[in-house]
Amino acid sequence: METPRTPLAEIHARIAKACAIARRKPEDVTLVAVSKTHPAERIEPLLEQGQRVFGENRVPEAQDKWPGLRERYPDAELHLIGQLQSNKADDAAALFDCIHSLDRPNLVKALAKAFDKTGRRVPCFVQVDVGEEEQKGGCPIGELPALLAQARGADIPLAGLMCLPPQDIEPAPFFALLDKLARDSGLPEEQPLGRSMGMSGDFETAIQLGATHIRVGSALFGARGT
Ligand SMILES: *Cc1c(COP(=O)(O)O)cnc(C)c1O
Repeated sequence: METPRTPLAEIHARIAKACAIARRKPEDVTLVAVSKTHPAERIEPLLEQGQRVFGENRVPEAQDKWPGLRERYPDAELHLIGQLQSNKADDAAALFDCIHSLDRPNLVKALAKAFDKTGRRVPCFVQVDVGEEEQKGGCPIGELPALLAQARGADIPLAGLMCLPPQDIEPAPFFALLDKLARDSGLPEEQPLGRSMGMSGDFETAIQLGATHIRVGSALFGARGT
């Protein structure tokens, strides 16, 4: 009898298949394992299986769970995928290796200050409000060029753009839009901007449309109790 594949192996196989169809290299797609709400005991098996990049959406929760895990897995990378309040910028800058939710001028200022203080400059994705849903956060598309210019001026390393499309409608047009915005927003002298897009239900579509970072939670950990 064959041993059943782990959820992680299953996701790797799906990423490989989506990349083959899109003629992309799997190593150009970073899997961010979204471990929010799950305790350290649920996260550790993924670390044991070799997963190294994880996403959390709340600063205090990550502060509770990750110092212990990081002692055992010093090369684990922690990404903040949830909205960030300016007054938590120092804590976020100290704890996270990447921030996916930079979305407004005040936060650029707060993060720039935090980075200046510690000398630790954390790569950031600018979250774009592709569905015009204010409550999710995200920079309005019309304000994106100014926000990117402000971030570059403040010496914030830009990893790319991030989106969280509206639920219950086909996400492909939103992914295509983010891809276009990322292509149009790069500077000639910098690496092409990344695209953080796609979750458990739609990451294959996101890979087809250029995702460089996919954020997958429930397909790896099972459903979250709320
Ligand atoms: C929770 C969350 C995810 C993961 O969602 P799943 O559907 O469980 O894969 C991805 N991105 C963000 C911003 C999230 O908050």
